[in-house]
Amino acid sequence: MTTFDTIVIGAGMSGTTSARILADAGHRVLVLEARDRIGGRMQSDRSAGFPVDLGASWIHGITDSPLSDLVQTLGIPTIEFTVGSFQAGGRPIENFDGESAPMDADASARWVADVEAADLALVDEIARSEPGDTYLDVTERVLDRTGWAPERIDEVREFFRHRVEEQCGAWIGDLDAHGLDEDAIDGDEVIFPRGYDELPHRIAQGLDIRLGHVVTAVNRSADGVIVSTDQGEFTAHNAIVTVPLGVLKAGAIEFTPALPEHVAGPIARLGMGVFNKIFVQFPERFWSEDSYVLRALGDAGEHWHSWYDVSAISGHPTLLTFAAGPFGRHVQGLSDGAAISDVLASLRAMYGDAVGQPVAHRITRWGDDPFSIGSYSYLAVGSSHHDHDALAGPVDGVLHFAGEATWGDEPATVGAALYSGRRAAERILGRTIDLNEFAARIITREQSDAR
Ligand SMILES: Cc1cc2nc3c(=O)[nH]c(=O)nc-3n(C[C@H](O)[C@H](O)[C@H](O)COP(=O)(O)OP(=O)(O)OC[C@H]3O[C@@H](n4cnc5c(N)ncnc54)[C@H](O)[C@@H]3O)c2cc1C
Repeated sequence: MTTFDTIVIGAGMSGTTSARILADAGHRVLVLEARDRIGGRMQSDRSAGFPVDLGASWIHGITDSPLSDLVQTLGIPTIEFTVGSFQAGGRPIENFDGESAPMDADASARWVADVEAADLALVDEIARSEPGDTYLDVTERVLDRTGWAPERIDEVREFFRHRVEEQCGAWIGDLDAHGLDEDAIDGDEVIFPRGYDELPHRIAQGLDIRLGHVVTAVNRSADGVIVSTDQGEFTAHNAIVTVPLGVLKAGAIEFTPALPEHVAGPIARLGMGVFNKIFVQFPERFWSEDSYVLRALGDAGEHWHSWYDVSAISGHPTLLTFAAGPFGRHVQGLSDGAAISDVLASLRAMYGDAVGQPVAHRITRWGDDPFSIGSYSYLAVGSSHHDHDALAGPVDGVLHFAGEATWGDEPATVGAALYSGRRAAERILGRTIDLNEFAARIITREQSDAR
């Protein structure tokens, strides 16, 4: 049996990145991937004739972003769409009040000012928070002090709640008070007209990736690792485990000996959120040409609250809405028909009969996916930012972890997956890796393959 230098478990963004770096350095690398495709939570469905990004779709801020630099160097086109993060203002947003009535520019501006004032007060409140305080605790303290009328408070409260659901996939009461500390956006946000999964596919080209290999156990000793799959065993001097936190939390891979506390503790403490996407294509546009987002505030937006116009990708009138946190888990249990009817009822409360019958839809269920068991990690109350990086290990010098949940600076993102994959490879190689050189090698290989 071949003994590899490194076995990488998982062919998502972090796994393909670490495998590529190690293979480029001359290591014998094997990638074991449970699915019949690579990319993991970067999945662009092209079956309709245009890409539909079922997982990641945005770079949240392209300024000083090595991820954005990599995308540009590889010549992957992007479209500016600066509302991927949950914003109150910034771009034309059609707001509807708690009774589903359209808000005029003044009313919208007042609401945005309320959110901004409460958000500013939140900075100090979070700084003063005690261990064990949740994001719900700190936001309620801020809202209590405003002295605003109950309806006015409700519209800001819903915003905070939905922001946590969208950014973390969690209920606001489960998120640590510091859970959005790393949520800074620097510069424009962009999306991918050719589909975001082009990036891991380009990185992965030429690697030894075995699809349909579900890893069930990892045994380690001073000599290396034995990785068991449903297709047999593989051995290597070391392994990089990049499966999502949800898979680790579920105990789907048995580690022998058991993982030590410095890695097992973070796995137990960090949370895995649920964030699902619902794409709905309409026969005709019923919202304004200029609007990027339609948003229902207060009671009207308790469940479905934000619809993003992603027509630029498909060329057809298409809205993207999200179901996240506890509501996201609820929606996973609905049939497609029931979920779409519910979405339409909310839209019709705002736009009436102008809302036509959809011509197509797509619904994700990441929380039910056995190779993800959730959408991305979040700082559950009781965990700390340190837990993310501690999760990377290494363990006994032979076992490394990578993936979005292992990168404390900006967890839950493609950037986190990229940088953590590079870190795991750097630790094995014992030297730093320049992402510009990484990109240059991908291009050189593509050019030589094309000859
Ligand atoms: C709906 C959604 C929207 C998102 N939107 C954005 C966004 O707009 N911008 C952004 O930056 N990020 C976004 N993210 C997060 C981003 O997609 C992830 O952070 C990133 O893709 C994670 O990469 P990864 O390598 O850590 O994990 P993954 O991509 O999940 O890769 C892990 C791989 O391990 C495999 N695996 C699992 N179990 C096993 C096993 N037992 N044996 C073998 N292989 C296994 C999986 O199949 C998978 O291929 C979104 C995620 C979701 C779900």
